[in-house]
Amino acid sequence: MDLNTQTNPKICEHCEMEFCSISSKNDHLKRVHNKPVENKTTPRILCPLCPEGETFLSHRLVKHLKDIHDIVVKVSTLNFNNIKEFEI
Ligand SMILES: [Zn+2]
Ligand SMILES: [Zn+2]
Repeated sequence: MDLNTQTNPKICEHCEMEFCSISSKNDHLKRVHNKPVENKTTPRILCPLCPEGETFLSHRLVKHLKDIHDIVVKVSTLNFNNIKEFEI
C-alpha cells in the first residue's frame, strides 16, 4: 500500500489549496466552490480478501470485490457492521 498516492483530505481538490483542518476545507468548498460538503469521515473499508490489507471507499470496494474477487455485494448493505458477513 502506497500512502503517498492517497489524497490529502486537507487539500482542496478543486484549487489545491491546503487547509489546517478538514472543517475549514469544507467551509472553503461551500463558500468558494459552492460544493456540497462531502462526508467528512468517508469510511474506508478494508478488503477482507486482500492479503495486502487494501482499503477502499465503500462504492470502490464493491467494484473491487466484483472485479478482483468475483463477489457481488450491494453497496447499500455494505458497512462496518456486516463487512464480516461475506468474509470467506
Ligand atoms: Zn478550493
Ligand atoms: Zn480485495
